[in-house]
Amino acid sequence: MEAQPTGKRRRIVLLGGPGSGKGTAAAWLAKKLAVPHLSTGDMLRAEIAAGSDLGREAAASTASGRLVSDDLVLRLVAAHLGKDAAPGFVFDGFPRTVAQAESLDRLLHERASRLDLVLHLDVPLAAVEERIVGRLGCPSCGRVYHATRMPPKKDGVCDVCGAALQKRKDDNLEVLRERWKVYGEWGPRLVAYYRRHGGFAEMDADVTAEELYAKVWEATTA
Ligand code: ADP
Repeated sequence: MEAQPTGKRRRIVLLGGPGSGKGTAAAWLAKKLAVPHLSTGDMLRAEIAAGSDLGREAAASTASGRLVSDDLVLRLVAAHLGKDAAPGFVFDGFPRTVAQAESLDRLLHERASRLDLVLHLDVPLAAVEERIVGRLGCPSCGRVYHATRMPPKKDGVCDVCGAALQKRKDDNLEVLRERWKVYGEWGPRLVAYYRRHGGFAEMDADVTAEELYAKVWEATTA
């Protein structure tokens, strides 16, 4: 494997509740590090849009804000991680249970790899509601926008690839509250798990996207 510059972590997990900015930060960081952005939410939405068996299995849970089964998520992750997990990755929305975290450790161990950094983005629910209700995403390249805070240059059209932007089916207040409740159950357990394992950093993410990128980069290069 090619030697990596020291002081830069490249095998990263971003933890955070719905609307914490982890998807936006993960996309930015993955591009900056030139590693894949592995979002299990995006993977599931792609399977659902394609109408695959796996997508059909996941559709009801994602629409209502509940977790899909560990087994299903792990099949997706193993397929996307590749054989050697090099030169790195940024996971977003995974792991979401301690069983998934243990499975990730195993998958990496089998590839002679391990995590360098787990970043926890902390935001209160009040800040998240406005973000989620205005959120728009590109179904083609995954870029995330906000109707007023981060609008595309041309209304309803992705700046990067020109596709028509969409609102996620689960981005409404009712499903958000369920997603937030679910996060309240798994989030603290995962934080406790990764605190024990080292390479853990936590940040106040109730800040602008640019400020968050700066904090994330500081933690990555620390
Ligand atoms: P959020 O903004 O709520 O973090 P995501 O795009 O990460 O949204 O996930 C959307 C939905 O996909 C979740 O509400 C859940 O149903 C499902 N999902 C995504 N990742 C996982 C996972 N690792 N384990 C179980 N379910 C998942």
